[in-house]
Amino acid sequence: MNVRSIRFRMTAWYAGLLAGALLIFGASVYLGLERYLYWNLERGLSTQCSTIGAELLPQISHQSHEWLEREINETYAPEVNSNFVRVTGKEEGIVYVSGAPKDGAFDPSRVPSPGDKDIGRSRKVQLGREYQLLIETKRFTMPGGSQFLVESGAPSEQIRTVLHGLLLTFAIYVPFIVSLAVTGGYWLMRRSLRPVDEITKQAEGITSRNLSERLPEIRTGDEIERLSTALNRMIERLDQAFQHVNRFSADASHELRTPLTILQLELEGIVQNQSLSPGLAEQMGSVLEETQRMSRIVENLLTVSRLDAGEVRMEKKRLDLGQLVASTADQMKLLAEEKSIALISDLASDVWVEGDRAYLQQVIVNLMDNAIKYTHEGGQVGVCVRRNASTAVLEVSDNGVGIPSDALPHVFERFYRTDKARSRDSGGAGLGLAIVKAICTAHGARVSVSSKEGNGSCFAIEVPLLDVLDANLAKSTLRAPRL
Ligand code: ADP
Repeated sequence: MNVRSIRFRMTAWYAGLLAGALLIFGASVYLGLERYLYWNLERGLSTQCSTIGAELLPQISHQSHEWLEREINETYAPEVNSNFVRVTGKEEGIVYVSGAPKDGAFDPSRVPSPGDKDIGRSRKVQLGREYQLLIETKRFTMPGGSQFLVESGAPSEQIRTVLHGLLLTFAIYVPFIVSLAVTGGYWLMRRSLRPVDEITKQAEGITSRNLSERLPEIRTGDEIERLSTALNRMIERLDQAFQHVNRFSADASHELRTPLTILQLELEGIVQNQSLSPGLAEQMGSVLEETQRMSRIVENLLTVSRLDAGEVRMEKKRLDLGQLVASTADQMKLLAEEKSIALISDLASDVWVEGDRAYLQQVIVNLMDNAIKYTHEGGQVGVCVRRNASTAVLEVSDNGVGIPSDALPHVFERFYRTDKARSRDSGGAGLGLAIVKAICTAHGARVSVSSKEGNGSCFAIEVPLLDVLDANLAKSTLRAPRL
């Protein structure tokens, strides 16, 4: 899981905020309920004190203490309810004290007498480690002047049980709600960011060679739709700019072609002129050579520009790649023999592809020409055609000078040469591989190179194979000859 992804961060923030909000909510509910329950209990105890003090105590002057005891026990049943009631006269001392509760939770005789500051308010009295009594104390003065303190107490146990139950509920439900929200939030984020993934995937596949492609149109009406539309407009502008550049190169090389041909013809005529002095003839010969080189460059530039601009109409036909390579390699034999280079072929038969014969031949020629050019005398050049799962593979390898690793990603660029001086001597202008790439793209083929400086290079081309059934049909008419 990528912790820096928007999906993860948003979900984490969402979960954090929700957990925080639930915690604050839980704490306020807990504190509010605690306050309310204590206030309610205190109110009950205060009422009890008032009833005893205002209704029973005024009658104590003409009633016995037993009467008071009976009245309180009958009305409030403190022993049954685990309550505590104590009535203390200023002169008489303790007039009434409730008995020990039935569950034996506390001993009433151990409840300390209230201090002056406890009168008129409630106090908490801890009895033992677990038991706590909340006691309300009130002072009453009888018409005769005698004073009584009435204490009424109840355990705060129930309140603590309720609060404990509430805490337990929070402890169970908060993590559950948070994890539910995390799962839901993650799923929602995934759903809403899926179009971004699609856009990214598609955008990664768009290069200067397939600028006519567009990103998927996201019709969600939100920011993502605006993003995809803006990116598509940007790609369109880039496409137009690239087309403009390609058109410019194609137009420029097209315009240069005719004057160069005329220049070449004129120069050829001059060179053939017998009356020229040997020095001038040599000079004119070298000018003619340079003009021919320039013509080749212009021709190649025109080819690659037209291919890139999609202006070339390919005459695609079913053809046997092995056979095409065999016949082309045959033509290159002489060139290899001049440098005593051994040409080794390994060509599978019946490798049917659909392509333009002339252009595919140019690919093979360019690759083999390079292989021979950049291999020392007595070296080896290999051509191999084989079948892969769904592609026909053409490999041209050599044990020549190889390509430095930093140059490898650039060799298919226009006018790129690894060693400018060396390439110029061998007549190259850095357009051969650009043409190879452009032709391959037009055939839906993939071209790749692997090389190690000093250890030779291997160029591989993968062309989609024609349907096997079609290939079988064609089998009966054509066979690929071997070199
Ligand atoms: P050029 O016409 O200069 O050969 P290319 O486009 O055909 O131009 O090749 C580009 C560069 O790639 C060349 O300058 C050369 O340095 C390098 N290159 C191409 N093929 C090979 C090869 N088989 N071995 C070594 N270097 C190669």
